[in-house]
Amino acid sequence: MRHGKRVLALLLMLALLASLGATALADDGEDAVIVVEEVVIEGETENETKGEPETEEKLTVKCVDAEGKTIRDKKEDYLDLSKDLVVDEKYTRPEIENYTYQKMKVGEDEIEKLTVTHKDGKAVITVTIGEGEEAKEKTLTGSETLLFIYTKNETSHEHSWDDGKVTKEPTCTEKGEKTYSCSGCDATQTEEIPALGHDWADPTYTWSEDNSTCTASRVCKRDSSHKETESVKPTELETKAPTCTEKGEKTLTASFENSAFAAQTKIVEIPALGHDFAHGRCKRCNEKDPNFKPKLTDGTKGHASWGTDYKLTSDASPKDFQKLMIDGQELSSSDYKVSEKDGNTVITIKGSAIKNLKVGDHKVTAVFETGTAERKFNVSDKPKTGDESMALWTGLLLFSALGSTAAIVTLRKKYSAE
Ligand SMILES: [Zn+2]
Ligand SMILES: [Zn+2]
Ligand SMILES: [Zn+2]
Repeated sequence: MRHGKRVLALLLMLALLASLGATALADDGEDAVIVVEEVVIEGETENETKGEPETEEKLTVKCVDAEGKTIRDKKEDYLDLSKDLVVDEKYTRPEIENYTYQKMKVGEDEIEKLTVTHKDGKAVITVTIGEGEEAKEKTLTGSETLLFIYTKNETSHEHSWDDGKVTKEPTCTEKGEKTYSCSGCDATQTEEIPALGHDWADPTYTWSEDNSTCTASRVCKRDSSHKETESVKPTELETKAPTCTEKGEKTLTASFENSAFAAQTKIVEIPALGHDFAHGRCKRCNEKDPNFKPKLTDGTKGHASWGTDYKLTSDASPKDFQKLMIDGQELSSSDYKVSEKDGNTVITIKGSAIKNLKVGDHKVTAVFETGTAERKFNVSDKPKTGDESMALWTGLLLFSALGSTAAIVTLRKKYSAE
């Protein structure tokens, strides 16, 4: 009988609560939060006298909002299962402040009508799902949940916003969002958080090995995949000219389109030019060519004709000419002329000076500041003059020609042997 007493107590309580019903709900100060119930259906059974109920079923009844959120968590029973009743559109649903009743559902099914009858002291709950010809009847089991769905009423109060919460973090390039909630209702409002912009680290600059390009780059401290780079060709300015022996300098300047990058300069060595020798001297700095050995040539294969100007050419510069010697004796400057042709020195020994030389072999030495050049030459026979017979003249000329030929042959042999 212990169980029977419990059931009786429960039924008494249900009846009491049902009578308090709507008033209690309406007086509930916690306006938005009301109803929902877990209704325990317990029926008397034949075994009840043995103190052991045969079945004990539970049906969950809740008041929820449109989102399925429970708006009533107070234990309350407004569906009096102890009595036979019909819950249809005429049935007064519990009032919940700020909410309006919409419909009844079991699971996903919308209920048109709910009927409570009693059989053998047990509540039998039958629902009609669907309308018209589609309508189906179904008897609920205790494991199901009966939902009374409410929608929230529009309110006209002054919202009182909280300090807000960042609901989307802004990034370097994308806006974020902050959401404010009203403490008096479920209203929210959002506010844009501007994109942060990149947080660039100081730029770095890299010159290519051959200095043909300079690359600037910078990386975002927040995300290393955010990167800016720019490669440019530098301009060049010779800031110190190189000489034959000393290095010069040029200044390279790299200027960037991106204003975040500062112009870069780099001083680069220019190698010394090295001397450019010609005629025994550097064309640029006039330095003596240490390896220069001047030569002395003539156009007559080493032959000077008696009484005739004898012309010699040296590859040394006339600017370096110092003196001329024949057979070791310095020749008076009035006995020869020095001139220049294509940078070479042309020395013309006057015929009057040749006249003073003995017929035969001689050596001419040209002394230059850049070196000394020598050449062997011979002076041909002095021609006969005045009363000599034509025959002798002719003979002499012939002899002279032969002699010249011989000399040429001799010289050729000599040169080819060298
Ligand atoms: Zn509000
Ligand atoms: Zn960034
Ligand atoms: Zn030089």
